[in-house]
Order: sequence, then structure tokens, then C-alpha cells
Amino acid sequence: MQRLAKKWRRAGEGIGLVPTMGYLHAGHLRLVREARKRVGKRGKVVVSIYVNPTQFAPTEDLSKYPRDLKRDLKMLRECGVDVVFTPEDSEMYPDRRPVPAGFSTYVVEEKLSRTMEGASRPTHFRGVTTIVAKLFNIVQPDVAVFGQKDFQQAAIIRRMVRDLDFPVRIIVAPTVREKDGLAMSSRNKYLEGDLRRQATVLRRAIEMARATVKKSKRIPLARLKADVGAMIESEPDARLDYVEFFDPESLVAVAEITSGVQMALAVFVGKTRLIDNERL
Ligand code: AMP
Repeated sequence: MQRLAKKWRRAGEGIGLVPTMGYLHAGHLRLVREARKRVGKRGKVVVSIYVNPTQFAPTEDLSKYPRDLKRDLKMLRECGVDVVFTPEDSEMYPDRRPVPAGFSTYVVEEKLSRTMEGASRPTHFRGVTTIVAKLFNIVQPDVAVFGQKDFQQAAIIRRMVRDLDFPVRIIVAPTVREKDGLAMSSRNKYLEGDLRRQATVLRRAIEMARATVKKSKRIPLARLKADVGAMIESEPDARLDYVEFFDPESLVAVAEITSGVQMALAVFVGKTRLIDNERL
């Protein structure tokens, strides 16, 4: 892949990268279209499919993470992608287990990654920044496209690129949703029966917060957090992991909620952990 990327670069062809973990849906394809728009018809669009073990904790769903490479490849072919990069663990992390003899260098962002997803999943972002840095070095993209669905992730990648001078432009594409407002996610596959209906509570909580902000200009944080909590708990199988209201640039939590504040939440619906966020 790196050899091919170098060849493309020598020929002056722009490269766009969309990193994914596969089991693709319309949200991923939205990122692919964005990449194509940025590099043009003659540029190269690369989609990576790699379920990155270092961003999963030992207790998480790594081995059960949904996979369907055949279907993914068909979707990407129809989307006009130039290359699908599907590395193996042994290529990305040689000899990581049982002792990290062959792999021992990680990229760690130390500020934005402390809250929200980082607080709930302490080693998650270290895995994300490390694998994305590796993908940037391998694919050498001019632009890389990420989804707003993972708002904190996109902010951390932007910071990493700025701090470590990666010569790549980061684009963030809007969240693609199902008709009933549920943000598309590979993990939605786990939502069987009534869990699928209950899962819309994330979107409903965001709408409720939006309506509240529209009605009254300044809302105390504790009140809105309590209201969101109550709404989530009203679904029999939903449990709030966190809800935060923060400045979209710095990710610093706000004390008072006004329009323009970013809201993000994580909710367990049954055993499946879902996230969502929007600007209020
Ligand atoms: P994943 O395969 O879940 O790691 O996601 C790969 C990329 O797709 C990330 O940049 C995500 O933010 C993005 N993504 C996932 N779901 C959506 C969605 N519903 N809308 C837009 N982008 C998404």
C-alpha cells in the first residue's frame, strides 16, 4: 500500500483516505463520496477496513465486532473506490502478543481524550490515534474523512495532525441517520426486537435538549442532565453512560447550556453501547 501511495504521489495524484472498521453502511459511504469530491475524478480514494484491536479493551466486543468483507467490497466497488486496504493484525502489530516485542510505539493525545469516551474507555483513543497515524504513514493521504458521529474522535485526530505536523487535511462529514433518527452504526446490528425502538432514545434526548434551549436561553447544566437521565432511564433496557455539554472546539464542559453548545451522550441499550452527538 505504501509503495502504491508513493507511486501515486510521484505521478501527482491526490489521495483521499476513509478509515473504517468495516460492516459498512450509508454513513461510511457518505465519507467515501466526500473523499471523492475532495480528490476529484482523477484522484485516488482509499478505504481502509481494519478492526483495530488496540482501541478495544479486553472486556469489549472485539471478537464479536460484525464483519462482512464480501458485502463491504461490493458496496465500495459500486461507490467507485480505487483501493480497499485490509491489513492483517500480524502486519499492523507484529508480535504484539504475548510480549510487545515487535511493536512498542504508541501515539497518545493527552488532553481532549481524557473525557467522555476516553473516561469510559481509558485505552480507546490511544489505539485510535496510533492506528490512524499508521494509516496516514502507509496511505499518505492529502485528505482524510471522518464522521461527526464520533465527534470527540474527529477532534482528537485534528489535534494529533496539528501537533505532529501530519501533511493531511481532515474533513468531518455529518452524521447519517435512519428514518427514525437513530445514527447509523455497525453496532446497530445487535439491536434486536424492542431494543431497536428503545435505541431512538439517544436522538429523542438530543431533540428534547434542543427544544429546551430554544425555549429558554440559559439552562443550568444539572437540570438538563437530570432531564436527559430521566428520559433515558424511562426505557426499560437503556442505561445512561454519560451525557456531556461542551465547547465544540476545546471540548471543555460548560456550566450553562446555551445555543451552540455541543451535546454528546453514550447509552447502553441492552448490552450494546451507542453514542450520538449534535450541536444545540
Ligand atoms: P467505524 O467503522 O465505526 O470505525 O467508522 C468509520 C468512520 O465512519 C468514522 O469516521 C465514523 O465517524 C464514521 N461514521 C460512522 N457512523 C457514521 C454515520 N452514521 N454517519 C457518518 N459517519 C459515520
